[in-house]
Amino acid sequence: GTIASFRPTEEGIPARIRKELITDMTDSFYPMKPVVPYIKVTQDRVVLEIQRGCIRGCRFCQAGQLYRPVRERDVEVLKKYAMEMLRNTGHEEISLSSLSSSDYSKLPELIDFLIEECDKRHINISLPSLRIDAFSLDVMSKVQDVKKSSLTFAPEAGSQRLRDVINKGLTEEVILQGSALAFEGGWTRVKLYFMLGHPTETEEDIRGIAELSNKIAATFFDTVPKEKRVNGRVQIVTSTSFFVPKPFTPFQWAPQCTKEEFVEKAYLTRKAISEQLNQKSIKYNWHEADVSVLEGVLARGDRKLSQVLLYVYNKGCFYDAWSEYFHNDVWMEAFEACGLDPDFYSHRERPLDEILPWDFLDCGVSRAFLEREWQKAKNETISPNCKQACQGCGAARFGCGICVEPRG
Ligand code: SF4
Ligand code: SF4
Repeated sequence: GTIASFRPTEEGIPARIRKELITDMTDSFYPMKPVVPYIKVTQDRVVLEIQRGCIRGCRFCQAGQLYRPVRERDVEVLKKYAMEMLRNTGHEEISLSSLSSSDYSKLPELIDFLIEECDKRHINISLPSLRIDAFSLDVMSKVQDVKKSSLTFAPEAGSQRLRDVINKGLTEEVILQGSALAFEGGWTRVKLYFMLGHPTETEEDIRGIAELSNKIAATFFDTVPKEKRVNGRVQIVTSTSFFVPKPFTPFQWAPQCTKEEFVEKAYLTRKAISEQLNQKSIKYNWHEADVSVLEGVLARGDRKLSQVLLYVYNKGCFYDAWSEYFHNDVWMEAFEACGLDPDFYSHRERPLDEILPWDFLDCGVSRAFLEREWQKAKNETISPNCKQACQGCGAARFGCGICVEPRG
């Protein structure tokens, strides 16, 4: 069922199609007069995209690879856009958008400007999720109600070993220091996001989720004296989703867990949390496994899956992202009717010499780089981010952004 070869069906069409890319974000088009609906909608605010791409190479993250290289917009232009769009739309809120906004080099300058200007005009600033440090806590305390807002960390894996496998450059030390600072500043709610089912995950890594949650709760009790504790407690909300391997990432060859394995991992997490000293301070949420397995099939599917899509569509499945409209049984019936095995797409490790269904697309990042990263993941070796050292991912051929900027 794998692909033997690819060739263009028409003459003159390249065998691989390379992505188009805006090389200069500052001079690119920006919708300064977006349509303003006269009904209440979500995202009812001015959105300022500060940069595109991400310097970090988390190995599970598709956006981090697809949008390489990171390209920042000039801060003066952003200030001008912000004021002009607020004027043009009359919105009462502005949000900053990008992947990993803390990495934008002029963030303090931009936020200071927005705080000053928006304060005068009674406009809210909706902050993106920021790396928790003294700067971001200071900003958050200026624009949010500390008592109501929560801190968010996305360690994605419970142990340092597994965070190295996925190349998530967030250490326990940074999380605990950030939490301590925040608790001193009056925060009492921390949200933690993890994924279950990363390649090489062991029971110990899963226990790490519970242990880290517990350590953060303990940090609260160590940091905040009894008389200063609001309601006497801290709330840690630990959420896990299930890992879905994605094309164009170093994990595109990785097997995805089965539904049973996922459920087992969620039970283990819940059990490990219930064994912690501070378990009463920890709330645990997890996602449904069925949807993640289906996502895994569709994410790395090939064109044979179009029969399945047509089948479920004809059976009325088209709002499946809403859980009340998701009918896993119809999907499974469709695979059976079309003679396809979902496990073929999700649950097997693909060999490096297999032609993958998306190999005719060139997203800028080379396959050789992804292979190197997959090997490094298996060796539990981290890669530095683009600001620290270029890893030769292939995106330099676009001649823009971080690839052509001096490092140091
Ligand atoms: S920081 Fe990691 S997860 Fe976030 S966008 Fe960048 S590569 Fe993706
Ligand atoms: S070529 Fe180097 S600097 Fe440019 S995106 Fe790739 S790793 Fe980063």
